[in-house]
Amino acid sequence: MNAGTCPHIDAVREVKLPEVLECAECIKIGARWVHLRTCQTCRATLCCDSSPNQHASKHAHASGHPVIASAQLGERWLYCYPDDAFVQY
Ligand SMILES: [Zn+2]
Ligand SMILES: [Zn+2]
Ligand SMILES: [Zn+2]
Repeated sequence: MNAGTCPHIDAVREVKLPEVLECAECIKIGARWVHLRTCQTCRATLCCDSSPNQHASKHAHASGHPVIASAQLGERWLYCYPDDAFVQY
């Protein structure tokens, strides 16, 4: 990964991509999402902050898992919540 980001992003050696392109929490409650993000600790795929339920942010704060990757086709970036660090790969 690029230098100068944060220890959490530096620790990502291989970017985890989604198993299924759907928000695991929105599916349960019948909600809609805008974009998807994949947790780099546990590979949970959840919805972005533009989505009504913001499940990826809630997951990061509840679990302490710091880094997500975009799960959108054509987007290649990582984001760290505690450090507010963003990097393209
Ligand atoms: Zn970090
Ligand atoms: Zn969701
Ligand atoms: Zn996670």
